[in-house]
Amino acid sequence: MLGPGLYSNRAKEGGNAVRSNILMLSLFAAVAAAIVISTDPLPQMAAATAADPTATPRKAAAARPVENRLDLTDAEFDGVAIDRPDAEWKRLLTADEYYILRRQGTERPFTGALTENKKDGTYHCAACGLVLFRSKAKFDSGTGWPSFYEAAYKANIIEKEDRSLPGEVRTEVECARCKGHLGHVFDDGPEPTGLRYCINSVALKFKPGK
Ligand SMILES: [Zn+2]
Repeated sequence: MLGPGLYSNRAKEGGNAVRSNILMLSLFAAVAAAIVISTDPLPQMAAATAADPTATPRKAAAARPVENRLDLTDAEFDGVAIDRPDAEWKRLLTADEYYILRRQGTERPFTGALTENKKDGTYHCAACGLVLFRSKAKFDSGTGWPSFYEAAYKANIIEKEDRSLPGEVRTEVECARCKGHLGHVFDDGPEPTGLRYCINSVALKFKPGK
């Protein structure tokens, strides 16, 4: 009685082992399938990254479109203009940036993030990244807008007559590369130039110096 009993117990155990092996296998298959499903988009992403080195994760793309990633280099304008249709600027810029840079808007005084900025560095066009001003030429004008007595390079800005206010002729300042509106220049600034470039903070991106 003992023998067959043992045998049958072993057979049962054997059966259990087979069943648990099958269970393990199907579990493994399910896990493997889940992995395959979850990693399916990876080859496409890898391909996109390989094809376009500027590709960024979706989160970063949502914060600022890939096409408008700014190259904040300090160099004189090379003469190669950036000319985008208005609809594209509208898509690339924030609402405030679009209003000021593309619609000749003006931010309310004392509201700009860079008005009181006293750090060493360079100020670039918020639309195209071209360097416009340097911290060494920044001064406290008390007007509520970032103020500079000279541009980083003369070639990087365009100055033109602005008669948009009745009875007043002002000199508008634009970015030479993308023609974005920056602000105005007045002749009541400090030495050595006597100029006051009165610039919208929203139109600028600050890059700290090294
Ligand atoms: Zn620009």
